[in-house]
Amino acid sequence: MKKRALNSLLWIFVAVVLIDLGYVLYFAVIHNDLQNLSQITTQLFPDPFLPFYIRVPIFIVTVIMLLFLYRNRQNLKNEIRLRQQIENENREQGKNLEKSLALSKATLEATADGILVVDENRRIAGHNQKFAQMWGIPSSVLVPGNDKEAVNFVLNQLKDPDGFVNSLERLYNSEPWAEYLDELEFKDGKFFERYTKPQVQGGEIIGRVFSFRDVTKRKEMEKQLIFQATHDSLTMLPNRVILLDRINQAIKEETRSKTLAAVLFFDLDRFKLINDSLGHNLGDAILQGVSNRLNECIRESDTVARWGGDEFVILLRHLKQEEDVILIVEKCLEMLEKEFSISRYKLSVTSSVGVAFFPKDGKNAENLLKNADSAMYYAKSEGRNTYKFYTPRMNARTKYLLELSNELHFSLQKNQLELYYQPIIDLKKGNVVGAEALLRWNHPKKGMISPQEFIPIAEDTGLILPIGEWVLRCACIEAKKWQNDIMLDFCISVNLSSQQFKQREILHILKSILEETKLDPKYLDLELTESIIMENAQVYLDLMNSMKNIGVGLVIDDFGTGYSSLSYLKMFPVDKIKIDKSFIQDISREDEGEAIVRAILAMAKELRLKVIAEGIEQHIQLDFLKTQVCEFGQGYFFSRPLAKNEFEELLIQNIKHPYLL
Ligand code: C2E
Ligand code: MG
Ligand code: MG
Repeated sequence: MKKRALNSLLWIFVAVVLIDLGYVLYFAVIHNDLQNLSQITTQLFPDPFLPFYIRVPIFIVTVIMLLFLYRNRQNLKNEIRLRQQIENENREQGKNLEKSLALSKATLEATADGILVVDENRRIAGHNQKFAQMWGIPSSVLVPGNDKEAVNFVLNQLKDPDGFVNSLERLYNSEPWAEYLDELEFKDGKFFERYTKPQVQGGEIIGRVFSFRDVTKRKEMEKQLIFQATHDSLTMLPNRVILLDRINQAIKEETRSKTLAAVLFFDLDRFKLINDSLGHNLGDAILQGVSNRLNECIRESDTVARWGGDEFVILLRHLKQEEDVILIVEKCLEMLEKEFSISRYKLSVTSSVGVAFFPKDGKNAENLLKNADSAMYYAKSEGRNTYKFYTPRMNARTKYLLELSNELHFSLQKNQLELYYQPIIDLKKGNVVGAEALLRWNHPKKGMISPQEFIPIAEDTGLILPIGEWVLRCACIEAKKWQNDIMLDFCISVNLSSQQFKQREILHILKSILEETKLDPKYLDLELTESIIMENAQVYLDLMNSMKNIGVGLVIDDFGTGYSSLSYLKMFPVDKIKIDKSFIQDISREDEGEAIVRAILAMAKELRLKVIAEGIEQHIQLDFLKTQVCEFGQGYFFSRPLAKNEFEELLIQNIKHPYLL
């Protein structure tokens, strides 16, 4: 305004000066003295308006003013140009801003994450469609001012709504500047990853951005990977990783509550046998069955884990006294013994169990497991299908058995195995008709080791197969030699372990040994125990028939101990039964013993089975057997098992036993 007034004044002033100049010129023209205009001005002729001394400064000021005006005008022009330029630039920027806003919006919509923006008052300020879609919130709800309803939609879906609210409160109240990443679990199993950071402008928080990503698939995969790493893939039971963790956890809890925990180490008896003879699929099915049955025997707070192979561990917690375990372990053994029906087979398994208690038998998981394992080993050596509580002396026994197990591997190569022969006597005629080959381990340091000690180890380690084949070959070679040299119809009996019997190549091995040694098959008796045949009658019936077709004799050893009835045995192609020595020894002690032997002999006669009485030690037993017309006998009364040379001598003499004369 001021500028404009000043400008107007200036123009008026210029106009006055110009009029004045014009007046001066007019005077000059009127006086015809144009040539000397300067003179006119310098002459002090009467001046209508202003005197000269005023006119000159006015003129100078006018020129200055004109220059000033000119400069002002230029400035104005420049300013206008600048403003236009700025305006253009602004327009351009506006366009760019619009473009970038459109791009941001498109990006926001194109992202796979759900995005929600809230202002500094925690009010909804914006969101993308994905957000609405992911949370299943109608867009009509997601409008500013409707925050409560939107939050309810969120909370209703979450597994832990309180946790969600608390985390937000913490974020807003104590860590407003924090960026935050966490996971939200939904009631329906979904998982969202939540990332949030504050929106800052000019150093002040003006809101917060939340982005949500659906990570359900990733979580499932993670879960699956964790499950695979911590569980056994066949039985789905926890593996060692979880077991160790749970034992450590139990140790802490039991210490606090002053209660006991027990570690039960299960090892299935002769499971290798099932695997090797009936195939791994069947073995796997049994392991699954075992895991299910063990799971049925425990409480929710306990754990069944697969330790490896045919080994399972049960962790029992919060026990008041050691005796509480007895009921559970007995229930487990009973459950396992029940038949498993798998495809066409009916199979049962037994297990040996070792038990160690916290805190008595170990203060950490490693020791508890080691000692439970020792006790299990002890239970195995005590005849299987049983359990033993750990005692410190078991370690020595386990150590000894482990040593035996290691050394047994080399026993064959080092020629430490030897066959002994126990004569079998014809009780009517009184002379030797054959012998049972009995294995001995002539250990360089430990002396003569009984087969009862090392055969279970050989069976567990699978060494029984090469050892058994060696026994069969040696026995046949000797029998053939004795037939050639001493007695034409000498008959040899060889014990066949269940594992050997079930081995696929048994028929082939048998045939080739007979061919190799040229022993007539009718002079070879194979001794099998009842339990072997009963285990899977259908399958082993075929095998026994094939053996019979080869021409060998089949004997049921330790008859009476396996709870099978004679009539049941009728379906098997068996030639002889060998009454177990426990019954023979009972003859002299109790009437019941006699009754049992009498019954066995009577039924065997009915079924036309030959009978061998084993373990005859006293003449009273022999007398009884003779009166009951038992055909064959074997026992210390006649002779202990003898080394090869000793037996050969006895065979050469083969004189009637004086008592049978
Ligand atoms: P088994 O087949 O029942 O053998 C009879 C066992 O009774 C033998 O024990 C024998 O020495 C013993 N015995 C014989 N007469 C009497 C007696 O009058 N009184 C007493 N108390 N015992 C008597 P051994 O030699 O210690 O063999 C034990 C078991 O080891 C055998 O029982 C058999 O099951 C197994 N065994 C022995 N050799 C072999 C073998 O080569 N292969 C397999 N698989 N098992 C074998
Ligand atoms: Mg035998
Ligand atoms: Mg026997």
